[in-house]
Amino acid sequence: HQDEEKLQEYMDELEFLAYTAGGTVDRRFTQKLTQPDSKTFIGSGKAQEIKEYVKENGIGTVIFDDELSPSQLKNLEREIEVKILDRTNLILDIFAQRAQTSYARTQVELAQYQYLLPRLTRMWTHLERQKGGIGMRGPGETEIETDRRIIRDRITLLKDKLKTIDKQMATQRNNRGKVVRAALVGYTNVGKSTLMNALSKSEVFAENKLFATLDTTVRKVVIGNLPFLLTDTVGFIRKLPTQLVESFKSTLDEVREADLLIHVVDISHESFEDHIESVNQTLMEINAHQKPMIMVFNKIDDFSYEKKDEDDLTPSTKKNISLDEWKNTWMAKSKYPTVFISALTKENFPEMKKMIYDEVMKIHISRFPYND
Ligand code: GDP
Repeated sequence: HQDEEKLQEYMDELEFLAYTAGGTVDRRFTQKLTQPDSKTFIGSGKAQEIKEYVKENGIGTVIFDDELSPSQLKNLEREIEVKILDRTNLILDIFAQRAQTSYARTQVELAQYQYLLPRLTRMWTHLERQKGGIGMRGPGETEIETDRRIIRDRITLLKDKLKTIDKQMATQRNNRGKVVRAALVGYTNVGKSTLMNALSKSEVFAENKLFATLDTTVRKVVIGNLPFLLTDTVGFIRKLPTQLVESFKSTLDEVREADLLIHVVDISHESFEDHIESVNQTLMEINAHQKPMIMVFNKIDDFSYEKKDEDDLTPSTKKNISLDEWKNTWMAKSKYPTVFISALTKENFPEMKKMIYDEVMKIHISRFPYND
C-alpha cells in the first residue's frame, strides 16, 4: 500500500513536470518489475499496451520517470513508434525554457549537449530508416563522427565560457566582503522565492510551476538593524540530472559558500519528508551539509489532514497526522532551529525572523569578535 502511494506521488510529480514543460498528461502507466529491462526498460507486454493506447488516442509523446540508457531510448522508440522522453530530458527542457540570463543559458546548453552526445546514434538510425536504411550505413556513420566532433568542440567551448563566468562570479562573491550570507535551499516549488520577496520586500518571480528560479538572486535583508545577504537558489529535485548538477556549479557555489542555510519545506505537500531527504542528499553531494541551518516549514495555511475517529481501527497513515503532531515530531528530532510559517499569510513571521536574526548574529559575532 505504501509503495503504491509513493508511486502515485512520483507520478504526480512527473505530471507536474510535464505540465511545467507545457504539456498535458492523458494517462499513466505503471509496472512492477524487480529490475528494469536492460533493453526496453519496461516489459514487452507493457510496451505493446502503451503502443496500442498511443495509436488509438493520437498521443504524441511518452514520458518515463527515470533516465533511460541511450539504447533503451532507441529500442522504445522503435517499439512504441512515438517520441520518447525520459525524466532527464524533460527537466533539461524545462531548464532550457526557464533560462533567463546568458549564464543560465550556457549552463543548460552544456548539460543538453552532454545528454545528447551518447544518444546521437539514435537520431541517425531514425534518419536511416526514413531514407530506406541499409545503404546509408557508411555515410551515416561518417556523419555521426562529424556531428560528435562538432558537439565535442561545442562542449569544450561552453565549458571555457562557463569557467570565465565562474571566475567573475567568484570575484563578485569575494567582493561582498564579510557580510553574513544566507542561502535559501529547498525542493522546487516550496516557496523560496515567495519567502525571499517577503523578507526583502523585492519582487522575485514566484509562480506555481517547477523551477521558476534558475538564476541566483541576491538581496540585502535587514532584520533588527542587522544586515545580511540572502540568496535564492535553484530548487532541488529528486533525481536531478547529474549533467545539471555539474553545469550549475556556480549557482550551487552560492550554497556551498553560504554561512547559513535556510532550508524551506512545503509541509502541505504529502511527500515533504522525501523532499527533505533529496535536498539533504544534494547538499551532501556538493559538500554543504555541515553548515548551520534553519528549518522553515512553509505553507501551514495550506496544510490539511484527515482526522481519524477514535473508534476507527484502520492503520494510521501520514494523512492522519495533524500539524501539531508534525510540529512536535520535528521540533524533537531536528538538530536545527525549526519554525512553522506561511510565507503567504506571514503567520509566525516574527518567530522566524528572530530565529534568523539569532543565527546571523552568532556568525556575525564570530567574525567581528571585538565589536560590541
Ligand atoms: P520556489 O520554487 O521554492 O521558489 O517556490 P515559489 O516561491 O515560486 O512558490 C511556489 C508556489 O507556492 C507559488 O504558487 C506560491 O504562491 C505558493 N506559495 C508560496 N508560499 C506559500 C504559502 O505559505 N502558502 C501557500 N498556500 N502557498 C504558498
